[in-house]
Amino acid sequence: MAEDVILSAAGLTKEFKGFLAVNNVDLKVARGAIHALIGPNGAGKTTCFNLLTKFLQPTRGTIVYNGRDISAMQPADIARLGLVRSFQISAVFPHMTALENVRIALQRQRGDSFDFWRSERVLSTLNGRALELLDEVGLAEFADALAVELPYGRKRALEIATTLALNPDMLLLDEPMAGMAQEDIERISGLIGRISKNRTILMVEHNLSVVASLSDRITVLARGQVLAEGDYAAVSKDPRVIEAYIGE
Ligand code: ADP
Repeated sequence: MAEDVILSAAGLTKEFKGFLAVNNVDLKVARGAIHALIGPNGAGKTTCFNLLTKFLQPTRGTIVYNGRDISAMQPADIARLGLVRSFQISAVFPHMTALENVRIALQRQRGDSFDFWRSERVLSTLNGRALELLDEVGLAEFADALAVELPYGRKRALEIATTLALNPDMLLLDEPMAGMAQEDIERISGLIGRISKNRTILMVEHNLSVVASLSDRITVLARGQVLAEGDYAAVSKDPRVIEAYIGE
């Protein structure tokens, strides 16, 4: 049976003033998978992410999501199709509660005017859904805490909850473990495992033990090109991958 591919890129290329940051990358992400994009610094991972969600315009190449060519689409339209990228914590409103942050994300998704949720009924429906999402990321008990007061790992969980509010089929996570202590790494790993049950995940992640434990498939980039692809056991034994990481 042919693999069910949710996202594919072909010949993806980004040139910055003659420098090929991403060079002819082919990528296929299977529906339901946790797929990791790894590689040494400067390999082109972030640029690739930006291209896939159209935050950057590719120099060449096509991107197909759920059977639809999204190469010429705008980021907001791509998000509406269900391909959503997680943002950094700066996207969370610090002086609002965790619940309010998720509720606003839900409201944005619905495209409501701000007046609309003056209705008690709408407000309580949105609050109920926001609470479910907070529960999904393990933050139910922090619903009324101000985002600014949450510890770092919890803030990342809140950021993921606001992303889930957009009802994604596929999530792109940019270094979800960056700057985290071990306890938070374990918690967010568990969370990614849970939210992947009914969603596809593509993540850039430096922590290789996280990559090893979570990923179904790994694409290794180096100097803008795909160096290797496979599961962790295969890519971690690949001499080209080992060589690319030496000197990191
Ligand atoms: P990674 O995320 O794997 O560390 P990046 O995608 O950030 O790599 O960068 C890949 C290469 O492209 C680097 O050499 C970087 O300096 C270069 N690069 C990234 N963005 C730009 C830009 N806007 N202008 C010029 N060069 C860039």
